[in-house]
Amino acid sequence: MSRPVSFWNFTQTKNKVIPELLKYRGEGLGLSAIQIGIALQVFILKLNNSKWIEVINPTVLDMYSQIISKQEGCLSIPNVRVDIERFNYVEATFVNIKGKKEKLVLQGMEAIAFQHECDHLDGILIIDREVV
Ligand SMILES: [Zn+2]
Repeated sequence: MSRPVSFWNFTQTKNKVIPELLKYRGEGLGLSAIQIGIALQVFILKLNNSKWIEVINPTVLDMYSQIISKQEGCLSIPNVRVDIERFNYVEATFVNIKGKKEKLVLQGMEAIAFQHECDHLDGILIIDREVV
């Protein structure tokens, strides 16, 4: 389980953790700090417009319109792809890299990736969610 970023480690998160995440993101749609060995509630996420955002201490407000996500993969489990039930829309708040609270409504791939990264913060992997 990843712990929230606090006042005390915000600077480290901004200056060390997030640059590392951006460095190792590869071909994925997101990467969580826990995947590089840092148990903080931080991930980066690729939006549908191809822009990357930094997400700190996310809180999901609502999720709706359940779908089956097709063949989800994970940088932590190479060469494995599984079908997973996700939601097509996610409303969430989080702290951005400037330390300001933001609210976003995510849809489609970016919503699926957001749920995937939130799972990492809870220690849940795609193989734990596989639809059988
Ligand atoms: Zn993953």
